[in-house]
Amino acid sequence: MQALVFDIKRFAVHDGPGIRTTVFLKGCPLNCAWCHNPEGISPNVQTVIKTIRVDGKEFKEEEIIGNRLSVEQVLSEVLKEKVFMDSSEGGVTFSGGEPLMQPAFLKALLVACKKEGLHTAVDTSGYAKLSVVQDIAPYTDLFLYDLKLMDDQAHQFFTAVSNKLILDNLIYLLENRHPLRIRIPVIPEVNFNQENTTECLQFLAAHPGNIQGVDLLPYHNMANQKYLRFKKENSLSSLQSLPNSSLTKIREQFERAGFETKIGG
Ligand code: SF4
Repeated sequence: MQALVFDIKRFAVHDGPGIRTTVFLKGCPLNCAWCHNPEGISPNVQTVIKTIRVDGKEFKEEEIIGNRLSVEQVLSEVLKEKVFMDSSEGGVTFSGGEPLMQPAFLKALLVACKKEGLHTAVDTSGYAKLSVVQDIAPYTDLFLYDLKLMDDQAHQFFTAVSNKLILDNLIYLLENRHPLRIRIPVIPEVNFNQENTTECLQFLAAHPGNIQGVDLLPYHNMANQKYLRFKKENSLSSLQSLPNSSLTKIREQFERAGFETKIGG
């Protein structure tokens, strides 16, 4: 069995507890206006032209995005850092793109990682069939679960899909007390407003579960260059990055509601 992987990041410290290796699976059913991994959205191998400057001269180089790898190949890459994972109570995180878009591969990999005694996390938009979530949950120690926009019309406008399935799957995980961290990308002109914060807090209060913390992820515009390389429309190209300090008030509200809350991953 193979899947399309577009990156493997070692020594990641923002994708779950401890030192982790994060595996990025290619393909995502959403199209978030602020996506900072636009190379992860297409479920196909892509070729882009990179410009390299050496001594004032420009060179063009082809870059292939996406590699078909087997479960064994990914596992062998992940295990290279096991000593660091073990000593830091870290593990492996599957991200994307949307890792639930390649469910059979993801499950096989999660099962293989659990056999090796690794802590597993899945970083997801939550947009998948409930049966997929139910199938992988027993092998996932922690979900990093995005809560982007509570208003469904705005969600459809900015991500291209409804939030109904996402919220239903989240309710399932909360009701089953599955360990998870809520991740909220905070984007100016999209969800950086009191209304969305209040609705998030109301939703979480109505559905208590095993939430181990909340991560507020301030918008940054570092992906602008990637949009140019991928010739992808960037409707937020003029937005400035948000400084962490601008999220203090939101953090205080989540803390008052009883959530351990971090700004940044
Ligand atoms: S869900 Fe994540 S990977 Fe998919 S488009 Fe949105 S930000 Fe990008």
